[in-house]
Amino acid sequence: MSVLDFRTATRMADAVAWLREDPDAKLLAGGQTLLAAMRLRLAAPTLLIDLQALPELKGLREDAGQLWVGAMCSHAQVAASPLVRQRLPGLGRLAAGIADQQVRNRGTLGGSIANADPAACWPAGVLALGGTVVTDRREITADDFFQGLFSTALEADEVLVGVRFPLAPRLHYLKFEQPASRFALTGVAVARTADGVRVALTGLGHGVCRWPEAEAALARRFDAQALNGLVVDAALASSDLHASAEYRAHLAGVLTRRAVQQHLTSAP
Ligand SMILES: Cc1cc2nc3c(=O)[nH]c(=O)nc-3n(C[C@H](O)[C@H](O)[C@H](O)COP(=O)(O)OP(=O)(O)OC[C@H]3O[C@@H](n4cnc5c(N)ncnc54)[C@H](O)[C@@H]3O)c2cc1C
Repeated sequence: MSVLDFRTATRMADAVAWLREDPDAKLLAGGQTLLAAMRLRLAAPTLLIDLQALPELKGLREDAGQLWVGAMCSHAQVAASPLVRQRLPGLGRLAAGIADQQVRNRGTLGGSIANADPAACWPAGVLALGGTVVTDRREITADDFFQGLFSTALEADEVLVGVRFPLAPRLHYLKFEQPASRFALTGVAVARTADGVRVALTGLGHGVCRWPEAEAALARRFDAQALNGLVVDAALASSDLHASAEYRAHLAGVLTRRAVQQHLTSAP
């Protein structure tokens, strides 16, 4: 059995160098996925690189008309932020609805989107808002970042620093929860941005994706009835013990209509 080493990175250059030296090294954020995977023997890193002491991964602020959320911000921090509540409240509600208080206190934005769990909430919010993912070496649009099931554009030695969100849009995220974990059996984020309407679906099973037909219909007329006749193709979803592909696809349509209604009837 290999020995597990643990190091705390205090400089970004060290974290990147350690990742390059050891292909079996893993970055550690809040450990909410990684430590569970290790306990189940689904992951066996030889080195854990703790990200907690890297200052550039912390912080949540308004910056040049955008909202900056550092990768190490916990879900609880985002949910409780007065800035988020005031300027992008839909994002705060999304973070507040993740899991339970314990997971929200440890789980991070960076860990969530780097992991790209197909049932996670953050990917839907980041994709619907058209966020920009910032790493130690480049900026990646949300559309390019998410690449399917547990798959992103991140290189093996790349560190996610944070996400920039446009501040003007309105966001409503709704999920039908898997009751034990509160992961999304299906989740829908609908955002009205300066570039138009963006609809992101999570929980279908193959990774977060947009729903272009719904976006086009809502761009013509932002009303739940504009979605009449539109269905999510069940081939985009998968079946498991919790739900069939057809049920997940059906839920996506129902939740999108409800999210649009929320846009029209409730606060931003
Ligand atoms: C019981 C339970 C219920 C949950 N329910 C929900 C839910 O309802 N909705 C939801 O969205 N999520 C849910 N989650 C997921 C949770 O919210 C965390 O976001 C997720 O587990 C990631 O955890 P973490 O941030 O601690 O990252 P870690 O577990 O530390 O890391 C996860 C992965 O990301 C990589 N990584 C971490 N940070 C970086 C970085 N800065 N750069 C590059 N790679 C990085 C790590 O190497 C690792 O591969 C749940 C988790 C649990 C345990």
